Amino acid sequence: MNILVLNSGSSSLKYQLFDMQGETVMAKGLVEKIGLEGSELTHSPAGKDKVNIVTDIPNHSVAIELVISELLDPVHGVIRDMKEINAVGHRVVHGGQTFCKSCLIDTNVLAEIERLVELAPLHNPPTILAIRACEEKMHGVPMVAVFDTAFHQTMPAYTYLYGLPYHYYEKYQVRRYGFHGTSHRFVSARCSELLGKKDAKIITCHLGNGSSIAAINNGKVLDTSMCFTPLQGILMGTRCGDIDPAIVTFLMAKEGLDPKAMDDVMNKESGLLGISGVSPDMRYIEEAAAKGNERAAVALKVFEKTVVHYIGAYAAELNGVDAIVFTAGIGENAINARANICANLDYLGVDFDAEANNCRGQEVEITRPGSKTRIFAIPTNEELMIARDAQALVQGK
Ligand code: AMP
Repeated sequence: MNILVLNSGSSSLKYQLFDMQGETVMAKGLVEKIGLEGSELTHSPAGKDKVNIVTDIPNHSVAIELVISELLDPVHGVIRDMKEINAVGHRVVHGGQTFCKSCLIDTNVLAEIERLVELAPLHNPPTILAIRACEEKMHGVPMVAVFDTAFHQTMPAYTYLYGLPYHYYEKYQVRRYGFHGTSHRFVSARCSELLGKKDAKIITCHLGNGSSIAAINNGKVLDTSMCFTPLQGILMGTRCGDIDPAIVTFLMAKEGLDPKAMDDVMNKESGLLGISGVSPDMRYIEEAAAKGNERAAVALKVFEKTVVHYIGAYAAELNGVDAIVFTAGIGENAINARANICANLDYLGVDFDAEANNCRGQEVEITRPGSKTRIFAIPTNEELMIARDAQALVQGK
């Protein structure tokens, strides 16, 4: 069975075609600047040369058409007939309170994803465009929605409710949802396998451009650091993470900012970029800090402190922890950040292995045998998780 996985952004579309027999990637690629000047597609078929096509791509429908034509292309393609695509798995950012697991997309499901645009005005609309484009271009191919929020739906009311008047929860569903759920699910399942323990207490740290941490007990999320939107929690590339909510009204009044402008400050101008003034990218911050840039150095420290903070909070909430997992761009690759974070975990009985930690992008245990709490770096694979869910649903499992 071949599954096409699509991850749609407002002006981008990432795709991977999986052969599920060996869970191998037949081709992957990225469409960029959809609807903008200079739009292009980069297509990487397995075992063949990469192709770059610069052409006018005005919308998601044209983008999907182009992806299909590259997958079928006699030279760059990897399939001969569209019938060889047995299902499409769509990443959907927000499933609200409705979706606690992945599901086949029908008219009702699509209508509900549209209703949830209210909660994810930036994230759900491009996915809806991609779903409609696939309906149009790939008649009858089953489609599956895999939600970033779904894995976190096991959170009890006492972790998802805010200390706001209850009627705002009833009226607008203002509550904690959590994001990166597909990644937290993938790495926590793998960690359970490595531990040989199904009912493990695990803290998963998805540290990338966007970052979130989750506390997982027996395969269920107890708490997570991203909340109503992907803004709260860890300091991120350009997002502020936790701040005193009173700062919002203070700055709006002082600077004469409207809600949209304030939203931009917190989502696009803050985080590692905001503090360092250098870049949202961890690699550049590390480089600048090593050259003596003090703001870059303090940005790194703030980042590491927020991770240490959440690990401590979640170890307490879980009342103990068997393992901690680092994943995503920073979690898988930033050797120094991992070492600095682990240096604060003696109280959990962590016996850190600096030599094992000295690697990037690999599955590795970075604690020594006998460490009371074990720590792993596990590369995440959200696309594979989406493909697995799509396969299971299409096969009626
Ligand atoms: P992601 O959003 O998962 O793609 O992660 C992007 C983040 O990972 C960026 O901040 C990158 O700087 C960071 N990253 C990627 N490779 C490295 C590396 N070798 N060392 C440090 N940070 C890295």
